[in-house]
Amino acid sequence: MSIKENYQTIKDQLPEGVQLVAVSKTHPVSAIQDVYDLGQKVFGENKVQELMEKSPLLPDDIQWHLIGHLQTNKVKYIAPFIDTIQSVDSEKLLSEINKEAGKNNRIIKVLLQVKIAAEDSKFGLEIHEAENLFKQYIDGQYSHIEITGLMGMATFTDDEQQVRKEFLTLKGLFDELNKLKSLKILSMGMSDDFPVAIECGANSVRVGSAIFGRRDYSK
Ligand SMILES: *Cc1c(COP(=O)(O)O)cnc(C)c1O
Repeated sequence: MSIKENYQTIKDQLPEGVQLVAVSKTHPVSAIQDVYDLGQKVFGENKVQELMEKSPLLPDDIQWHLIGHLQTNKVKYIAPFIDTIQSVDSEKLLSEINKEAGKNNRIIKVLLQVKIAAEDSKFGLEIHEAENLFKQYIDGQYSHIEITGLMGMATFTDDEQQVRKEFLTLKGLFDELNKLKSLKILSMGMSDDFPVAIECGANSVRVGSAIFGRRDYSK
């Protein structure tokens, strides 16, 4: 299938109110432009360098989301234009984003990335760490940040019950924090598991290969 057909197939599966982040990492600017031309405005990349190379070549009204691990020393490069940083996994990173957003006179939207997978994933906050950061935020520590929601990745497995359990864990935290201060975005689900994620309450999904095709890391 063509990228255009893939895109339409995914869009048709998303209920109204579920945001699609088209994950374009490793794919060329021409492919991103094709999907943009179909009306897609929100794209996700996981590496700062790749984002810095591609974004100037594409339309200004694209809302870029960073979805991969972010080193504090690279925040300054994306702070002028990034729409949302989905991968906030430490207090240090949150502070740095706040600082750089301030320098740019901006409010940067962020999601707290929470570790929900049973497998040993390197990045992501523990649940209690996410709760603590959110409380700091409510106390007013971060004037140039808006925490709009939570992001999580389930274990890479065929065991749907396992995946469901992990997504529901994040949905539980989302509901709990949402009572303290309103949250908008629950970002869970990728090409292989987004339908389950939506059943578990996701209102934003990050879909790459099901739109753009398989990634070729050899290039
Ligand atoms: C690559 C990536 C995705 C998209 O993965 P696909 O399986 O290609 O849909 C989603 N989220 C994150 C954090 C990623 O790194």
